[in-house]
Amino acid sequence: SRVPRIVILGAGYGGVVTSLRLQKLLNYNEADVTLVNKHDYHYITTHLHMPAAGTDKPDNARVNISSLIDEFKVDFVKSTVVQIRPGEKKVILEDGTLSYDYLVIGLGGEPETFGIPGLKEYAMTIRSINSVRHIREHIEYQFARFKQEPDRKELLTFVVGGAGFSGIEFVGELADRIPELCKEFDVDPALVHIYNIEAAPTALPGFDPELVEYAMRLLTDKGVTFKIATAIKECTPEGVLIAGDEFIKAGTVIWTGGIRGNHLLEDAGFETMRGRIKVDEFLRAPGYDNIFVTGDCSLVMNPEGRPYPPTAQIATQQGENCAFNLVASIRGNALKEFAFVNRGTVASLGKGEAIGIVGTKKMKGGTAALMKKVIDMRYLYTIGGLPLVVRKGKLR
Ligand code: FAD
Repeated sequence: SRVPRIVILGAGYGGVVTSLRLQKLLNYNEADVTLVNKHDYHYITTHLHMPAAGTDKPDNARVNISSLIDEFKVDFVKSTVVQIRPGEKKVILEDGTLSYDYLVIGLGGEPETFGIPGLKEYAMTIRSINSVRHIREHIEYQFARFKQEPDRKELLTFVVGGAGFSGIEFVGELADRIPELCKEFDVDPALVHIYNIEAAPTALPGFDPELVEYAMRLLTDKGVTFKIATAIKECTPEGVLIAGDEFIKAGTVIWTGGIRGNHLLEDAGFETMRGRIKVDEFLRAPGYDNIFVTGDCSLVMNPEGRPYPPTAQIATQQGENCAFNLVASIRGNALKEFAFVNRGTVASLGKGEAIGIVGTKKMKGGTAALMKKVIDMRYLYTIGGLPLVVRKGKLR
């Protein structure tokens, strides 16, 4: 009989780690593995706030997939998935069809705008190499335009919606970039405004209050104005309307306020919560023993019965578990339950500054910033070994 065919959708944290683990675990000719991704590169999403603000080059946040995988063991197909047909065990690509015996869905997330009018149309989101190149160019262009139209002070106002990890990391970088841009474009720094607007009663909801306070103080000193417990009610081409009926005119609105699962999951008829599939203990989609789900597409409950936040950390661990369970399924062995091990959370606040909790230890300042680098490098090492660490993992 023919060997089973495994198709992996998405070469993000979940998909890449699944592919790499399968390469190791599978014997010769035990399965055909195909990895499908929109681009021929993998992007380091956790690094995207830097190229978005322009404090690093977009190329430093991506790695060619061909340099990561062994193409004798994993077939890479550069294409866009347009439909998943679980009933037929088929995936429809923009330029063809793939049949599978086992499927891994790792297509990542999409911005969640909670139905707030105009956000989808007029706010930018930090989500891919293409989107961060656009954001960086847009920010620079506002400075150039202001010099042509000096009455339009709103061109120098930047609104970031959401003070979760992505929002906080981005405003930290943006605040670092502004002085450079002011110099480059001969703009008075006093004219520039950065607003970070958050609907929840605190920035970084759920994080240690002392560290949140440290972060807010530091970012405020760098020029960020926080509006906490303040919902964005509408976004227009001119700016944002916020709670209290205040309108903030802004040339730039960036939305980091939420992530949901890829829309293809709902389209395929899977039962979803916020676009994510609530997987079983082995990371399978309910009702399918041949479909595994990783990363932002999946929803895993913590022991208290609340969903784990979608992170690169959990996606990576799920990738390893998926690979193990795929091999076990093929061999008829027992599957392994997924158990998340929290190795800590660190959020950067710009150059040389961060906050974090590793184990039970709180960290801030330079120590936390160094820990962030260690985490980044550990990931690079996991996927690309020492050569990749040397190429991409430079300390800044
Ligand atoms: P992704 O990494 O998003 O990968 C999905 C892949 O699927 C991509 O390669 C994409 O191109 C591809 N794809 C999508 N649609 C299609 C399609 N239709 N056809 C083909 N291919 C497709 N997490 C942390 O743990 N720590 C952090 O410090 C951290 N910082 C972050 C900072 C920012 C600015 C952002 C935006 C996120 C951050 N996260 C962080 C969250 C983390 O990046 C995500 O949880 C993680 O990337 C999810 O991994 P994934 O494998 O599910 O999907």
